[in-house]
Amino acid sequence: MSVDKLIAHEKDVGGIPVARMLPNHGKRTIGAWCFLDHAGPAIFEGDSQGLQVGLHPHTNLQTFTWMLEGEVLHKDSLGNEQVIRPKQVNLMTAGTGDHRGISHTEQSVDGCDRLHAVQLWIALPMDVDIEPSFHHYPTLPTWTDNDVTYTITTGQYAGWQAATLQYSKLLGVDVQVRTAQALQLEQQTGFEYGILVLRGRVVLNGESYYSNELISLSHCEQDNHVDTIDLWVDADTHFMLIGGEPLPHRTVIWWNFIDKDQAGLQQSVKDWNEGHQRFGTIDLEGTSLNRLIAPVL
Ligand code: MN
Repeated sequence: MSVDKLIAHEKDVGGIPVARMLPNHGKRTIGAWCFLDHAGPAIFEGDSQGLQVGLHPHTNLQTFTWMLEGEVLHKDSLGNEQVIRPKQVNLMTAGTGDHRGISHTEQSVDGCDRLHAVQLWIALPMDVDIEPSFHHYPTLPTWTDNDVTYTITTGQYAGWQAATLQYSKLLGVDVQVRTAQALQLEQQTGFEYGILVLRGRVVLNGESYYSNELISLSHCEQDNHVDTIDLWVDADTHFMLIGGEPLPHRTVIWWNFIDKDQAGLQQSVKDWNEGHQRFGTIDLEGTSLNRLIAPVL
């Protein structure tokens, strides 16, 4: 097992401080998880309207939002309008291929004064024909054991299974630890893993990891089968375990697009900026939101 520490880049996304964990130097994906933003925790002050992300497209990926605090309204070009609240997942699938895509907006709900969320992207297998879709998961499997609360956001863990739609084998578990302890996390053969520390401290192999640090765990050729990841966690620690099987093909990212190669990305930039119907649209009249422009590759 090789272990790397990835440190976040700090960004501003739609007015919210965001720690971007993936892509990161030398590490582009963990399983099919290819993008990881930890947004907030933020309290909106003065006349801040909170998160206001204008209309933008996606290709060949799923956006996966895990809400911790606050409420955000999602609208997409399929006609879905869905408020996401704490302990819920929104999953939007852009579909695959150069004739498919989706577009959406995200806004803090009026009167909501805070935001804390993890937003991830999942690269889709581009050799599979996948239609655009949107799913909202209001309740997920959750349980408490020895002062540790686990919630499965996607995949299966410890005999529990989330209903979240998957196109490759993936795992997402939210873990909140109240009392300091040694903790063993279950591992599945063939998975790569990441541990994103949101609060507190996680210790692995004698090394400490704090908020907005991502532990990346990948297998080496000589690894024997290992059943667990053995951690020490401080009291009041919160982290997300993500994992999955590596995708069988390479992926490249530009702006909000994923593709197999640069030509596909360039086509998506051109199509979006020319208003191609593959991305659909949303009526922005009466909102303060803009249609975003794709930067040229
Ligand atoms: Mn988006």
